[in-house]
Amino acid sequence: MRFVEQVSTSHARGSSARLRLGLGLTLAILLIEFAGGLLSHSLALLSDAGHVLTDVFALGLAWFAVEQSKRPADKRRSYGYHRVSILAALINALTLIVIVLAVTFEALRRLMAPEQVQGGIVIATALVGIAINAFVILTLRGGGDNLNLRAALLHVTGDVGASVGVIVAGAVILLTGWLPIDPLLSLAIAALIAYGAWQIMRETVNLLMEGTPAGIDLGAVTNEIRKTDQLTGMHDLHVWALSSDQTALSCHVVIDDVSLGDAEHVVRDLEGRLCERFAIGHTTIQVESCHPCGEIHHGAGEHNHPHQHVVLTSTSARPAPPRAAGSSGRPRSQTRKSNPSPGS
Ligand SMILES: [Zn+2]
Ligand SMILES: [Zn+2]
Ligand SMILES: [Zn+2]
Ligand SMILES: [Zn+2]
Repeated sequence: MRFVEQVSTSHARGSSARLRLGLGLTLAILLIEFAGGLLSHSLALLSDAGHVLTDVFALGLAWFAVEQSKRPADKRRSYGYHRVSILAALINALTLIVIVLAVTFEALRRLMAPEQVQGGIVIATALVGIAINAFVILTLRGGGDNLNLRAALLHVTGDVGASVGVIVAGAVILLTGWLPIDPLLSLAIAALIAYGAWQIMRETVNLLMEGTPAGIDLGAVTNEIRKTDQLTGMHDLHVWALSSDQTALSCHVVIDDVSLGDAEHVVRDLEGRLCERFAIGHTTIQVESCHPCGEIHHGAGEHNHPHQHVVLTSTSARPAPPRAAGSSGRPRSQTRKSNPSPGS
């Protein structure tokens, strides 16, 4: 489950006090489950503590990311520090994988050589965990109703489910003395942790690959751009995420030969629509009119400009050429003239 994203979006925009409260409560569950796991020799409890550790990590990460993204961009980091959260998420995923491997190894060892587990301590510890999580659920419920909050609720409910499983295992051990239930449940919890790690890893790698963010349909973005007034072409479109909630876009638009002021209005209108419809807040739009880079190949290792350089001559000193009838906008103080590029 993508707890990092859920928490960072639901809490970052809400009060940072709630984030700190969640962190404190989760830390309490972690310490109690870890101590209970050591005392009772229950691997199920220890592996659940391993999962809670990653929840603590996710909450701490969300808080850290909020603090980091408050730092302004500087000369060395022109994007600011949003991507600190991606680096931290990657570390989180690697930690999860280490926990999964450790739990799996220990579970297999215990299946071959069962270890005595104190069922009573296991049940008591898991009950405390459930009580704290129930409080967290009530707190989240009070925070309004949106998609991120519901996702966070779902995650905590899943945590309660894992604790209920631990209680069942403790009861089975108390009643029947069947010890393999403990490592078997640990393997199930490890599988859940592995699933969470896979989700975080996939998302993080997509961010690092500058992949199109999950919530954005590039086809829909293209259609929105094509709706632009006076647009005759569009190319070199890139959409990528700076962090899990910050999206950037760059593209070239080819528009009619209008005044600079009119071209700016076209770009502003496009920026507004991209922000409104796709929440893309950071756009870089290059306007082309006379020399669209139509024949140029875009991609890795390619330059998006012609190298048989088109000569742009300033003609401001000369009388301006007659303007095309019906063209709008202010008179141009400067016009551009080019020599035809070789071969065209
Ligand atoms: Zn959890
Ligand atoms: Zn905006
Ligand atoms: Zn271009
Ligand atoms: Zn070049």
